[in-house]
Amino acid sequence: MENKKEMRTWLDDMKLDHPLVIAGPCSAETEEQVLKIAHQLKDTDVNYYRAGIWKPRTRPGNFEGVGALGLKWLQKVKEETGMKTCTEVANAAHVKLALEHDVDLLWIGARSTVSPFIMQEIADALEGTDKIVLVKNPVNPDLSLWLGGIERLYSAGIKNLGAIHRGFSTYEKSKYRNIPEWQLAIEFQNKFPDIPLINDPSHITGNRDMIFDVSQTALDLNFDGLMIETHFDPDNAWSDAAQQVTPESLVQIMTNLKIRKETD
Ligand code: PEP
Ligand code: MN
Repeated sequence: MENKKEMRTWLDDMKLDHPLVIAGPCSAETEEQVLKIAHQLKDTDVNYYRAGIWKPRTRPGNFEGVGALGLKWLQKVKEETGMKTCTEVANAAHVKLALEHDVDLLWIGARSTVSPFIMQEIADALEGTDKIVLVKNPVNPDLSLWLGGIERLYSAGIKNLGAIHRGFSTYEKSKYRNIPEWQLAIEFQNKFPDIPLINDPSHITGNRDMIFDVSQTALDLNFDGLMIETHFDPDNAWSDAAQQVTPESLVQIMTNLKIRKETD
C-alpha cells in the first residue's frame, strides 16, 4: 500500500470544519421511519445518513433487516433531503444491489471483517468502485484481520477507503458492550495514518448515556469522525434500542463536543 496519501482525499475533499458525522438508525424499519429520521437530520452537521438494511445478527430469531426493499427508501432519502446515504454490505449480492441503487458509502460490518473469504468476495464485487468503503474492526481484537480487510479492498482498486472502530467482544465484565481497546485503534492509526478512522461510540457503549464521553475520547485521539445511531423513538427501535439517541440528543452531543483544530 505505497501511495496511501491518496486515500485521505475523499475526506479532505469534503473540506469539513468538524469531524465527519454519520448518523441514522441502526436498522431501516419502515419507509416512514427512514424518511422521518432523515428529515430530522437533514439540517444538522450530519454528512451521511446511515440505515442498516441487511442486519447480520449474532443469534437467529432477531430482526435481520428489511433487505433490498430498504434501498428504495434510501433513494427516497436522497431525493427528498439531498443527504448522502450509507448502508452495510455483507456479501457480493449486497454490493451489487447497493451499487445499482447508488448508495454513496458502504461499510463492512464487524462480523464480516473476521472472514477473509467474505472480505475477498466483497472486494472483488467492489472492484474499481469510487464509492467510499469503510471497514469496521473485526468483533475480536485482532488488528491483522482489520488491516488485512483494508488491504484486500486496496488491492481490488478501491481507493476511497476508511475504517470504523466499533470496539471488541470480551468475556471480561465491562461497562462497555464492546470494549474499546483504544491502543488497537492507535496502532491502526500508526500503521495506516492516511486512512480516515471513524469512531462508533454506539456499538462500543451499547448505552446512550455513554455516547458523549466515548465520542470525546475519540476526538481527543484524533479520530476523523463519528458514526452515531439515531432514532426518533430509540426505546422502540427494532435493534440496538439502548444505544440509539434522538436527533435532538445527537445535535446536543455534537454541539458539546470539543473539537481539536489543526493548530491545537
Ligand atoms: C451496525 O452498524 O448496526 C452494526 C451491526 O455494527 P457492527 O458490525 O459494528 O456490529
Ligand atoms: Mn446497530
